[in-house]
Amino acid sequence: MPKKRLPKELWDPLREKVWIRDEKKCVRCEKELKINEFHCDHIKSGKFGSNAESNLRTLCRRCHVLRYDFRHGGMIASALRDGIIPYNWRELVWEDEEL
Ligand SMILES: [Zn+2]
Repeated sequence: MPKKRLPKELWDPLREKVWIRDEKKCVRCEKELKINEFHCDHIKSGKFGSNAESNLRTLCRRCHVLRYDFRHGGMIASALRDGIIPYNWRELVWEDEEL
């Protein structure tokens, strides 16, 4: 997540655009997602991330949580609790090849 979060009135329409561009599906597992359940992922996050549309993509919660990113530590705990990911989640972690 980039340090500067966009205000909701800018973020919401941008998020919707990304979701429509990605055909309302998780770009990784192709699960169909409703607008209120998709995760808008920053491909590059942290200080190199931006809120440009090209840096955003649609992910389901599971793929988002399992993306290799140490910042997701808190998400792992709650996803485990909610049964989104199994206890062997470490075997399922994925990484972007080009990064
Ligand atoms: Zn997915």
